[in-house]
Parts: sequence; structure tokens; C-alpha cells
Amino acid sequence: MIQHAMEADDDVALCAEPVRSVIVGDWHVSFVATLACACPECVRLAATGDKSRVLDGGSA
Ligand SMILES: [Zn+2]
Repeated sequence: MIQHAMEADDDVALCAEPVRSVIVGDWHVSFVATLACACPECVRLAATGDKSRVLDGGSA
């Protein structure tokens, strides 16, 4: 299982992968970039803080 980084109230990971929220009640798993199963793309984006990913088909 790959762990993706995602922002709160978002259904898409930093790498634009659609992910299911793992929030249970007020508890949620925090993204740990050092995990071997961490998504490398999410790690890179989380490290750089790059939010310039292209949103295709997204509607606000
Ligand atoms: Zn990812």
C-alpha cells in the first residue's frame, strides 16, 4: 500500500492520485515521508511545497 500525502478536505493527493480519506473521527494518519511505502511523488511535492500541479477536469 502506497501512502499519499493529501491536504485536509481534499480527495486528491499531492501527486494528483485520487485517494480515500483515512480520517476517522478526529483522528487521521499523518503523512510520513520517511516511510518506505510513501509515494515518492508526494514526498517530492510535500518537500518542495509545489502546489502548481495541473488540475484536469476539476471544478471548484
Ligand atoms: Zn502520491
